[in-house]
Amino acid sequence: MNGPPAVRFAPYGIEVQEGLLWLDSRRRKPLGLVSHAHADHVARHETVLCTPETAALMRRRRGQGLKYIERRYGERTAVGDVHVTLLPAGHILGSAMALVEGAGGSVLYTGDVRPEGGLTCPPAEPAHADVLVMEATFGRPEHRFPPAQKTREALVAFARDALAEGATPVFLAYALGKAQEVMTALCLAEVPVAAHGSVWGMCDVYRSFGHRFSGSRRFGGRGRPGAALVVPPQSRREVRIPGTVRVAAVTGWGDRALGPGIDTVFRLSDHADYDGLLALAAAVRPERIHVVHGYAPEFAQDLRERGFEAEAVEGHHGPDEDERPGLF
Ligand SMILES: [Zn+2]
Repeated sequence: MNGPPAVRFAPYGIEVQEGLLWLDSRRRKPLGLVSHAHADHVARHETVLCTPETAALMRRRRGQGLKYIERRYGERTAVGDVHVTLLPAGHILGSAMALVEGAGGSVLYTGDVRPEGGLTCPPAEPAHADVLVMEATFGRPEHRFPPAQKTREALVAFARDALAEGATPVFLAYALGKAQEVMTALCLAEVPVAAHGSVWGMCDVYRSFGHRFSGSRRFGGRGRPGAALVVPPQSRREVRIPGTVRVAAVTGWGDRALGPGIDTVFRLSDHADYDGLLALAAAVRPERIHVVHGYAPEFAQDLRERGFEAEAVEGHHGPDEDERPGLF
């Protein structure tokens, strides 16, 4: 093999070695690597290669009856003439980057990535590769996030203050990933939590991998929960709570999410911010970078100004399921 494994970008996924393996294809393929269980990365492949956590989340989300090859972080698997290793991506439970190694070089695909990880998943572990395929959801300099721990403290204080006033704090957080991060922050601070059913269903899978949500319960949708309520933004109209409510959106988009019925925004994301993306590229030390997702053209330009050989992949994938700008 001359050079690193061949990658080709289709609008619906990334092809490796002429169909030997597909990365995050939204169309059914013979062998599809699924980096994580958000819907825009998943399809009903003949065989799915992913982490055990992602397989469990997929089975819960309409992925029953599929054949899974489950690989833990760091396990090296032969696929045709390449080897594939899944590495922690720090995005949500089970999220993985994929290192594809051939005789002539290597490719690292980040999927969705958050270098520092969170309360419910370990930090990303980037490996050196010759070619880097990376996301750029927040690939503009205005997207620099405050330290996550400070934001979690502010979020807990918001919940405590609302409950002390006799109001109901409501957190709008995506059902898979973000909601569990918010719940864990609240539970660790011993704030009682009630979760919308779609969030609770995902928590069951987290529990099966040892995550605790102590002091939380499922919210049936009626009455005053007497607890901080965690609801996906898409489901907020389903919940009717008597009395005063204080509503907070939890999203990396910050004040862009402010709108009718939202009192405040906590800028907590499960993606890298701008500085995190730059640090990731530096850590991988690739010879070539392909930028997918989000601000791909702008971020590729910034990478070139920093001495990387980088290009944007146009027309590939939309924004991530959990960090769409118009979600709130
Ligand atoms: Zn995602």
